Amino acid sequence: MKIGEYLISKGKLTETQLRDALFVQSISEKRLGEILIESGYIADSDVAAYLAYDSGREYFSELNSLSLYIDKQENEELGFAFLYDIPAVAIRKGNIPYIICSEITANFSEKMAFDENLKKFQIGFSTKRKIYEALNQIFISKTVFSEKEILEEAIEIALLKGSPNIRIKRSENFYMVIMDTEIRQENIRILSLESGRKIINIIAGNCQITLKKGQGLDAKFVFVSNFYKGVRVNIRVAFLPISSKLDKESSLFEAVLRIHGLNKVFDFKYIGFADDKVELLKKSYIHPHGLIISTGPTGSGKTTTFYAMLKLLSQKKSSVITIEDPVEIELRESNITQMNISEDFGYSEAVRIMLRSEPDIMMIGEIRDEITAKHALIAAETGHLVLTTLHTNSSLSIFGRFKSLNVDLVQLFSVLRFVTAQRLYNPLCPDCKRKVMPDKLPAMYRYALEENFKFTASMPSKTNLREVSGFDSVYIRGEKNCNNCGGTGYAKRKPLIEIAEFNDAVKEEIYRDLTVLSSPPSLEEILTGLSNFESLKIQSFNKLANGEIDPPTYFNLSK
Ligand SMILES: [Zn+2]
Repeated sequence: MKIGEYLISKGKLTETQLRDALFVQSISEKRLGEILIESGYIADSDVAAYLAYDSGREYFSELNSLSLYIDKQENEELGFAFLYDIPAVAIRKGNIPYIICSEITANFSEKMAFDENLKKFQIGFSTKRKIYEALNQIFISKTVFSEKEILEEAIEIALLKGSPNIRIKRSENFYMVIMDTEIRQENIRILSLESGRKIINIIAGNCQITLKKGQGLDAKFVFVSNFYKGVRVNIRVAFLPISSKLDKESSLFEAVLRIHGLNKVFDFKYIGFADDKVELLKKSYIHPHGLIISTGPTGSGKTTTFYAMLKLLSQKKSSVITIEDPVEIELRESNITQMNISEDFGYSEAVRIMLRSEPDIMMIGEIRDEITAKHALIAAETGHLVLTTLHTNSSLSIFGRFKSLNVDLVQLFSVLRFVTAQRLYNPLCPDCKRKVMPDKLPAMYRYALEENFKFTASMPSKTNLREVSGFDSVYIRGEKNCNNCGGTGYAKRKPLIEIAEFNDAVKEEIYRDLTVLSSPPSLEEILTGLSNFESLKIQSFNKLANGEIDPPTYFNLSK
């Protein structure tokens, strides 16, 4: 039974909801289960329960229960200590050992069942969150930190990882420190209720405010980073009162910390792109007209890249108008006009005004609807250079997105110059990274890599990591106590960009058969052959092979 049918049969989903989700799936690269969870139709536990049902395995709704035992050493030996991006945990239920997989690890759970080293384990399913909580209980807080240190560490890691916010969230029996990273994965630290309350109070103290029971507050404070050598960062904090039936006496709060204004430098040299990519980016602006689209998830650094582009373009003394939501950085150049989107002044209205004032270059913050998309195309067709962003995962999936906005793909293709996709990543710290042979990698890592490489290069059914990848070893992050990276194991983050250049040769080839526009693999083949296209996946594969990044970073970048 497919997941949709299963959920409908259990009364968890309606036919209409399934149709909606299937539509979203047809225009995005997400899995159906993921879409259903994100749209709020079902809970992540429903997907985990389905996976267990579908494979005839046991489903665990709780992992922190008295009838289960989690052995630290066993998990350490299996390598689950550092499997943060591939959640799995070993537990014992009575005398029976299990490895618990989540929706993310479901792909290779069957392979694990046949692994010689793992055959004593049964396979079970639970949610990613339950697995993280279980792992945290055994691995986090090896060293005893003070609450102040925990907070500082969280902010430093958020800066390093480029997380836009940190949430200090209360659950029934503990507090959690959750970091949202650019790829929406979460690093969680579990704290006792007592520690959680102390941290909230320390933050309130930093903001110089007093919290009153049941009263939400917004405040801010300045954090001086150690890791970034004295860089000052503005942090806005929202204190959210929570009602708790559990302990009535004390006033209880959660907090959300938003991190602003890490030193932004709008010059390609300093942003950290590879030289060949900078050359290609600069080439994209010599066109007097056409469309340049930048894609990437929130927090991928695409806005910074855009401002760098604008700075560069404004040097030519062309007139530039931008529409932004909101204007993030005010540029001082006299030939740049920035328009702010507000509730009663929307994108399509702003675009109309923009078109009337006839600038040379237009920047439309984001294309979100049909009208804005169509106006952007008209502007590009009538002699303007138009820059915009689109919320897709890869540069070549823009055609699917535009199709869903009822845009004629041939019309789009005829004005398209460049499409980029950007991510941020943390290279391994060169001082403390460790080399490991594939057979020494935890089984989960090996399987995840093998699965992933198979898709990357449409490899035949080779099974061994060395065979599918062609390389002997990978690098993982070091242990604590490294001066260079402050014990994080990673160096400062860098951007990675894929650039699809629709040059004359590429266009000629595509005009021969316009149906390739709906097929990212065929497009990739043409672009690789006729321009210098290098996908994020290929670039991150090379970085993994040469030891610049570790497997978790590779998984994030190659998604
Ligand atoms: Zn280091």
